Amino acid sequence: MKQQLCGVSSCAASLTRGEIFCGLRLCASCRNLLATRLAGLPQMYQACEGALEVRRQHSIRVVRGRRPMGICLDDETMAVRSNVISVLSSWCEMILEVRGVTGPRSHDVLALASFLQANLDWLATHAVAADFTEEIAGLVLSVRKVLNPAQARTIDLAPCPRDGCGQMVRASISTVQHRLPPQVRCDAGHIWQPREWLDLGRHLEFADL
Ligand SMILES: [Zn+2]
Ligand SMILES: [Zn+2]
Repeated sequence: MKQQLCGVSSCAASLTRGEIFCGLRLCASCRNLLATRLAGLPQMYQACEGALEVRRQHSIRVVRGRRPMGICLDDETMAVRSNVISVLSSWCEMILEVRGVTGPRSHDVLALASFLQANLDWLATHAVAADFTEEIAGLVLSVRKVLNPAQARTIDLAPCPRDGCGQMVRASISTVQHRLPPQVRCDAGHIWQPREWLDLGRHLEFADL
């Protein structure tokens, strides 16, 4: 029997007669959303690259113990990026195997995403259509999380060394999308400009010894 409801569990809208007739397993709005997400992924992927560059240029040279602080943000962005490629690649491989079509011309994110776009109508009729939709949604969410300034992480560095202040100094990666450096400030409002970070780093290192 053909599927009557959209396979995306959070949607489950009734499919139209035409959609059921065509064997589609996703409703029109889920198909549109999927196409939009796929189309946007390459650009988001590039934006991650931009974010990594910004952080490298303005690397916070604060080292406490042996572990450089702030590295976890880069690690997360790198992990998200490689996950985008591996998820897209595995879906492309599945299509290649099942359909026997010619594959994407390269393995960069744009080629992979456009290959999937080109096979969307077919994918929407496949038993795994909902899984595919949910995985792409998950990818977009994870990329957004490392890019979105509103959800930026704050890293606690050390107690503020200025004038015996002692409040926690925190680095926050905020407006990454506007290519601005991270903010470094303590809870009492002392602020360090990027040119002062090296000095701050030295202070904190000495304080730790
Ligand atoms: Zn739906
Ligand atoms: Zn302070």
